[in-house]
Amino acid sequence: MIMLKQQCEQCNTPYGDLHRAGEDRLFACKDCGREACERCVEHEPSGPQTWFLRCSHCRGYSLEQRNLSERFSSYSSLSELKESRYAIAMLFVPKSVYSKRNETLIREAIPGLQEFNPSFFLLNENETSIRNAISGWFPSIGNPREATGNGAVIWFNAGQPVSILHGGPYLTELEILERSRTDWF
Ligand SMILES: [Zn+2]
Ligand SMILES: [Zn+2]
Repeated sequence: MIMLKQQCEQCNTPYGDLHRAGEDRLFACKDCGREACERCVEHEPSGPQTWFLRCSHCRGYSLEQRNLSERFSSYSSLSELKESRYAIAMLFVPKSVYSKRNETLIREAIPGLQEFNPSFFLLNENETSIRNAISGWFPSIGNPREATGNGAVIWFNAGQPVSILHGGPYLTELEILERSRTDWF
């Protein structure tokens, strides 16, 4: 197995963080072999609308673009999720403030749910198959046509979706704890 890098070699940002932020472009330098994220590549102006990209390590110009999402994903599939006894899943969209906010809340709530030892999954709301599944289970909240970006939270019991909170800016850690206990006891 090839060991793939887990973070940008220039700024040490974990690839998981870049992927969550929707920054999927990586650049590999053919001269020095370094790989860097988009933030770390130098943009050298060569006209009003165009830039040369340059390696910030050796300053070479031979950069090859790679796509982070082809080899790394923050997301889980629905079939993976069904293997857990107790699971919380959140609909995630890069650049959505609600996704970010609610993910943090859930991660903070999980240590308070030790009796269930729940698994936590992020689902890609930009994926049609995910949106279709959610709106099939919860027609009042899911939207098959486009991502809501609300960071909705779904509870699963033995692989079955049992309830959902629509997310948004008002979700609290207490609600996450209470809903978990109601759904799982
Ligand atoms: Zn970087
Ligand atoms: Zn280089």
